[in-house]
Amino acid sequence: MNVETRTKEPGFRESVDLMFNRAVSLMSLPEGLEEKIRVCNATYTVRFGVRLRGAIHTFTGYRSVHSEHMEPVKGGIRYALSVNQNEVEALAALMTYKCALVETPFGGSKGGLCIDPREYTEHELEMITRRFAYELAKRDLIDPSQNVPAPDMGTGEREMAWIADQYRRMNTTDINANACVTGKPIHAGGIQGRVEATGRGVEYALQEFFRHPDDVKMAGLSGGLDGKRVIVQGLGNVGYHAAKFLSEEDGAKITGVVERDGGIYSEQGLNVEAVRAWIVKHGGVKGYPEGTFVEDGAVLLEEECDILVPAAMEGVIHLGNAARIKAPLIIEAANGPITAGADEILREKGTVIIPDLYANAGGVTVSYFEWVKNLSHIRFGRMQRRQEEARHQLVVDELERLSRDSGIGWTISPGFKDRYLKGAGELELVRSGLDDTMRAAYQSMREVWHDREEVRDLRVAAYLVAIGRVAKSYQAKGL
Ligand code: GLU
Repeated sequence: MNVETRTKEPGFRESVDLMFNRAVSLMSLPEGLEEKIRVCNATYTVRFGVRLRGAIHTFTGYRSVHSEHMEPVKGGIRYALSVNQNEVEALAALMTYKCALVETPFGGSKGGLCIDPREYTEHELEMITRRFAYELAKRDLIDPSQNVPAPDMGTGEREMAWIADQYRRMNTTDINANACVTGKPIHAGGIQGRVEATGRGVEYALQEFFRHPDDVKMAGLSGGLDGKRVIVQGLGNVGYHAAKFLSEEDGAKITGVVERDGGIYSEQGLNVEAVRAWIVKHGGVKGYPEGTFVEDGAVLLEEECDILVPAAMEGVIHLGNAARIKAPLIIEAANGPITAGADEILREKGTVIIPDLYANAGGVTVSYFEWVKNLSHIRFGRMQRRQEEARHQLVVDELERLSRDSGIGWTISPGFKDRYLKGAGELELVRSGLDDTMRAAYQSMREVWHDREEVRDLRVAAYLVAIGRVAKSYQAKGL
């Protein structure tokens, strides 16, 4: 982006505010409520020192609480050098709308720590994380009933396990301590399917979109996901899982992958597992034996494809490149990848955008399931699974007896038997709950998109549904 373009571009928080404003201009909210919903309730900055390598290092972290119309508030903690107050506030606001849209009963929050995690050893990261968690927990900014963090860019299961343990040490008699953070490893109170959840949600969102031929037509596409050319920007946790499921299960072709050090492109489609393994081993895509390597990966965002999946970070589609984006359909797997200015250019071109607050809500949805699991202290499916299997067995036995006794001689195909007899375990239940959530949320957005003439895009539709729900909740409190 050149300097001139950059100065015209609003910051991330202003971008989210502009999108919010576009939606509220179509609503008639009571006087003052619009402002109450839009602003961030509080942002805490914590600065703390950790002794590392013989010297004291001071770190700066944030936890922003955007809306407490429902508690606990929810949202990830990000580790990156680019973290700043403006960014966590924008991300916290997005969490409020996201949770409202997919009906997870939380307010919105987000946290961040200004560090490059790659510069520290595992032990150092543990000390930094524990100290950050301590600072947040003692201010109730980590608490099962008030504020429940989760992973985000630069953090994962490992950091969540440290946070949970730190909270437990500080609250030794809290029986619900495990519910203070989500995205934990299974052995530390996590849930099956949380790691894949955001990418899986992106897949379910696209499956639902392609169930509606009218919507597919709006993007100038036809048919289903099978054979669609997909370019993914960022093969981190979200991008990797989305690309993996879309190619392995839906028949889509991953024609491009953009990473920090460049991009690779192949008309035939790339093998996602192999690319991921290469990145893990070599730290980037450079040198990957298949496809064509381009040093300036961002140009691949402008390549011909059917679906573009920005899955890395905010602001990658901006005033400087929006006009050159050719993809007719963009699904925002990351938070805020399209700036407000770029959004306008793309809308004018007729690009269909499946917005972040819906597209990447799979993570918080499964976080919700994990939180419920922690509070109920029992794994999903533990009570019903065998009973369900026994009842299915009864049906199969009876069918076989009928067929035998009547002399018809039907036999049940073994494939059917295996699938029908298997009761749902936690992973199946999590996926089913996530699929249901993504379908329901899409339908609520779609209704507004198609029923209200002044609503021309899914983003405004999503904001209208979300803000409407937050407003109702504030009004029920007497505000
Ligand atoms: N960091 C994720 C997001 O942006 C997950 C948040 C959560 O699970 O609380 O949605």
